[in-house]
Amino acid sequence: MDENQALFEQVLTAIFREEFPRWRGDLSRILRVGGKVINGESDRELKRLCRVFFEESGVRWLRYELHTAYWRERYPQDQEEDDDEEEGGSNCYTMTDLLVQRILLAYYAQKKRLKYEQEVDTFPYWRLSVIEDGRAYPECLEEAKAGYRHHADAYWKTKKLPCNRLDCRCSISHSMKPD
Ligand SMILES: [Zn+2]
Repeated sequence: MDENQALFEQVLTAIFREEFPRWRGDLSRILRVGGKVINGESDRELKRLCRVFFEESGVRWLRYELHTAYWRERYPQDQEEDDDEEEGGSNCYTMTDLLVQRILLAYYAQKKRLKYEQEVDTFPYWRLSVIEDGRAYPECLEEAKAGYRHHADAYWKTKKLPCNRLDCRCSISHSMKPD
């Protein structure tokens, strides 16, 4: 099996186990489309299968519920009118959009991390890189304040990307020096 496909399967399986711990269904259909998506083909089939997954399984997605509650609290007006999608628009994504996005973000984050792990002799310091465009989550900004930490630091032993909230767009940057 292609190593990218193997990584995709590993990441996607981990996401489903974490997000839908009570669901016991079969992931094979979704896993099979992974190769097409990561080879730069359309992610339309992945989206379709994720939509079917939600329809057929009827699972509750706790992280999505937390996500909508968070954005509803911040932008209550967006519930009626969403002509301001650029700024408050995160709550306008569907569950399917956010699941597909989380799968792809996790895959690319893991791929980057594996590459950085091979380069630690030259670039031993890693930092959480946050897009500061007003949509970044406060928890992410807080974590990013620590700047560069050694890759063997306890933080990086447990840190998972994407971060806790849906639509987090953080990534890792690496460096030769602490700052
Ligand atoms: Zn984040």
